[in-house]
Amino acid sequence: MKARGAVMTARLMLGKDTAAAVKADLDSEIEELKARGIMPRLDIIKVGDKPEDKAYENGARKRFEKLGISLEVTELPESVTEEEFEKTLAQLNEDPLIHGILVFRPLPDGLNEERIARLIAPEKDVDCFSPVNIAKVLTGESGERGFAPCTAEAAIEIGERNGIDFDGKDVTIIGRSMVVGRPLAMMLLQKNATVTTCHTHTRDLAGSCGSADVIIAAAGHAGLVTADMIKDGACVIDIGINVGPDGKLTGDVDFDAVSEKAGMITPVPGGVGGVTTSILARHVVLAAERLAE
Ligand code: NAD
Repeated sequence: MKARGAVMTARLMLGKDTAAAVKADLDSEIEELKARGIMPRLDIIKVGDKPEDKAYENGARKRFEKLGISLEVTELPESVTEEEFEKTLAQLNEDPLIHGILVFRPLPDGLNEERIARLIAPEKDVDCFSPVNIAKVLTGESGERGFAPCTAEAAIEIGERNGIDFDGKDVTIIGRSMVVGRPLAMMLLQKNATVTTCHTHTRDLAGSCGSADVIIAAAGHAGLVTADMIKDGACVIDIGINVGPDGKLTGDVDFDAVSEKAGMITPVPGGVGGVTTSILARHVVLAAERLAE
């Protein structure tokens, strides 16, 4: 498939294909749950009115409607107190009809994010906010007993659904945040990849990218990965989301030039972003199944 008029050699890894494959797996699981009288349900806690939260909520709602998963949103004002927030969270933790809880982050300054992370019920924590689930990513147990962060899992899912076996591969990750880069490194180690994690203090980013079989960019820096930095045929997974001065979305990769040299590449938009809510749905279904046991 060719894209955006470039002389493209890379195969495009499209989020919608991976999302459709995840949906096909989930359909029968959701049917089984419903046959047992269980309606999988996610509750989101949203503080304030940020456009990026609204965009994520809309994307999740569309995905969940297609799958038949319930989605409820509790909207709290920016001025909410710690006590009020914790009361809301406790109600969701205790409600047996709710299987997954997602707290939109970052939270405003008046709320203690570290404390709140410790209060969310780990068995409902579908996007790995709780330190309990972060620890399980570290020990490699998140697949069976915990939940990995949805975006990190989405990056792996889109690669694997397109035939990448990470075992033994040299993978360079750009970014070391707690929500994306760092857990991703742990998850790929668990898959027997040799992982290099780059960040703002990395001296030779181009060198690390140049020797990698797979590059996963999660820096939030438009145009960071250029064609001269990658080896011929490399697989490039772009998690970055950047809004240009014209309002257009781009990733961290110079897409047109890199796609002439890479073997496989994800576009932005249309790549990893479209898989994240599918993984969120998978986690809600998993939570419902585990809670029913
Ligand atoms: P962050 O700002 O918390 O972390 C960015 C990381 O990249 C840092 O560790 C930093 O050291 C590194 N970095 C930044 N600039 C760099 C540079 N020039 N060279 C090397 N390293 C550099 O961001 P985050 O929350 O981890 O998100 C990363 C990107 O992924 C953002 O663009 C974000 O919008 C996007 N994102 C996408 C999804 C999705 O669903 N596709 C979800 C979450 C985040």
